[in-house]
Amino acid sequence: MDEVTGAQLIAESLKAQKVEYMFGIVGVPVIEVAMAAQAAGIRYVGMRNEQAACYAASAIGYLTGRPGSCLVVSGPGLIHALGGMANANMNCWPVVVIGGSTDQNLETAGAFQEFPQVEACRLYSKFSARPSSLEVIPSVIEKAVRTSMYGRPGACYVDIAGDMVNAKVDRSKVRVVSCCPTPPVSLAHHGAITEALSALRAAKKPLVIIGKGAAYGRAETALREFVEIAGLPFLPTPMGKGVLPDDHPNCVAAARSRALLQADVVLLFGARLNWILHFGLPPRFNPNVKIIQVDLCAEEMGNNVSPAVALLGDINAIVIQLLEVLRKDDWKYPSDTEWWSTLKDKIVANAKISKALALQSTVPMNYYTVFHHVSQLLPHDCIIVSEGANTMDIGRTMLNNRLPRHRLDAGTFGTMGVGLGFAIAAACVERSEHSNQRIVCVEGDSAFGFSGMEVETMCRYNLPVVIIVVNNNGIYNGVDAETWKEMAKMGDLTSIAPPVTLLPEARYDEVMTAFGGRGFLVRTVEELHSALQLSLSDWERPSLLNVLIEPSSDRKPQEFPWLTRSNL
Ligand code: ADP
Ligand code: MG
Repeated sequence: MDEVTGAQLIAESLKAQKVEYMFGIVGVPVIEVAMAAQAAGIRYVGMRNEQAACYAASAIGYLTGRPGSCLVVSGPGLIHALGGMANANMNCWPVVVIGGSTDQNLETAGAFQEFPQVEACRLYSKFSARPSSLEVIPSVIEKAVRTSMYGRPGACYVDIAGDMVNAKVDRSKVRVVSCCPTPPVSLAHHGAITEALSALRAAKKPLVIIGKGAAYGRAETALREFVEIAGLPFLPTPMGKGVLPDDHPNCVAAARSRALLQADVVLLFGARLNWILHFGLPPRFNPNVKIIQVDLCAEEMGNNVSPAVALLGDINAIVIQLLEVLRKDDWKYPSDTEWWSTLKDKIVANAKISKALALQSTVPMNYYTVFHHVSQLLPHDCIIVSEGANTMDIGRTMLNNRLPRHRLDAGTFGTMGVGLGFAIAAACVERSEHSNQRIVCVEGDSAFGFSGMEVETMCRYNLPVVIIVVNNNGIYNGVDAETWKEMAKMGDLTSIAPPVTLLPEARYDEVMTAFGGRGFLVRTVEELHSALQLSLSDWERPSLLNVLIEPSSDRKPQEFPWLTRSNL
C-alpha cells in the first residue's frame, strides 16, 4: 500500500498547481507541512511575523501571476496573517494561505489556540474552507489556487485540522487533480470597442490612466503600442508606474493634477476610481469627464462615476482589440494641440521646483536631495519597493521605473509594513529567475519599524536587498535629538512627546549589522553616494542605509491637500 500523509498531500497539491513559493512561520501543527513542501520542490522561506509572510506570498502572486502560499499556525498565527490577506484582497493580488488548526475531534472544546478560522478569513478572502477528509485536499487546494487567480484576483484560505497533518491515507483513494490553467481570457463586446474609439476620436483633452491591473494583466507591450500609435498622454497610478517607462515622452506624471483636472475623455486601464484617483470626481476631475473603463470585474464598472463606455474583459486582450481598429483607421491624436502644450508647460514648471529642492546642500538633507541622488545611482531595471507616507509620496515622483511590476508599495489599502516582505519575495524571484535585478527597498523610519525584524530573514537567506531608511525621526515628522533631550528633561515623555515622534537618530543600520548585513549611517550627499555604491556592488548580503534627514522636511507645496474630499 502506498500511503501519503496530509502534509504531503498539501505540499504535492500546491506543487501540482504550480505554487512555487511558501512563506511562513512553523510551529505545531504545521512543521511537517513546511518540510513536505521543501521535499516537493517548493521554496520555503521562514519569516519572523505571519503578516510579513503573507505580504511576501501575495507579492509573489503580483510578480509571477501565480499565487505564493503562506503557511501559518493556528489562532494567533492565522490572525497575524489576516493583515496580509486583507492587503492582498484590496490590491487584487492572488495568494493562498494554509492555516493549521484544531484537531477535528476537539473543535469547540477550548483546544490550544482554537479559533473560528474559516469564518475569520471569510471577510479577508474570496474563498475560505476546511477540507473534510485527506482525500479531498487536492481538490480544495486546486479550488483555492484557481479562485485566487480567476476573475478579480485575491486571497484564499485553506484550513487544515491539526490531526490531518500526520494522518495517512492510501494514495489510490486520492483523486488526482490536474493543474488549473491560467485564467481564460475574455474580450470586450465589439460594439463597445467601436463606441470607445469614437469617444476617443471626439476628445479634445484625452488622457490614458494606467493602473496596477494593467501591470498584473501583463498589458505592457500592447499598451505601449496603443499609446504610441494613438499619440496619447498617459498617467500611471503608483503601481502602474513602469508599465510604460516613466521617462517615456508621453508620460505626464509630472503634471498629474492638471491632467486629471482638465481631461475630457479618460481611458482607464486597470485602475479603480477610488481614493487613489480621487473618486474620478470634482474637485480633482472635470465634472463632465467621459470615462472609458477597462476592467475584468463587472461590479467595478460605474463605481463613483458611471462610465461612458464599459469594456469588460482582459485588459491585454482589450488593448489588442482597440489597436486592431485603430491601425485600420489610421487615427492619431495630434501632437500640436493646446492640451499637449498645457501639459508640457506644467511638467517643466514642476520639474523646476523639485530640482531646486534637490540641489539644496544643507545638512541634514531634505527628501528631494536624498531621492535625487538615489535616482542617479539606481540601475534602470531595479525593483523599487517603497512605503512610508512622505517617503513613498515624494519617492514616487523622483524615482523612475522603466519596467512593469517593478514598483511595489503600500497600495490600495495604504498598508505600512509591507516593504520588507515584498522585497524578500522579489529577491526570491530574482534569485530563481537569475534576472540580476537589484531589489531596493525605500522605507520611512516608521514604516521600517512594522516589519523590521525581517532583516534577519534577509541575512539568513543571503538575500542582497538594499534597504534605504529615510529617517526623519517620526511618523510624518519628528523632532531633532536636541529637542528630544530637552523634552525628556521636562517630564515623562509619554505625557509630552508628540505622538508622531520616534527616537531621534535611531540606529536602524545597526539592526542590519547585528545579523551580519552591511549597515551605513548616512548624513551627507557624499556618504549617501559611497554607501549606496558599496551596497549595490554587494550581491552576497543585504545592506541598510540609515539616512538621517531634516526631521521637519516635507513635500513641496501641493495644489490640493492629500485626500481631498469630494462632494459625493
Ligand atoms: P491602482 O491601484 O493602480 O489604481 P487598482 O488596484 O485600483 O489599481 O485597480 C486594478 C483594477 O484592475 C481592478 O479593478 C481589477 O479588477 C483590474 N484588473 C486586474 N487584472 C486585470 C486584467 N487582467 N484585465 C482587466 N482588469 C484587470
Ligand atoms: Mg518618518
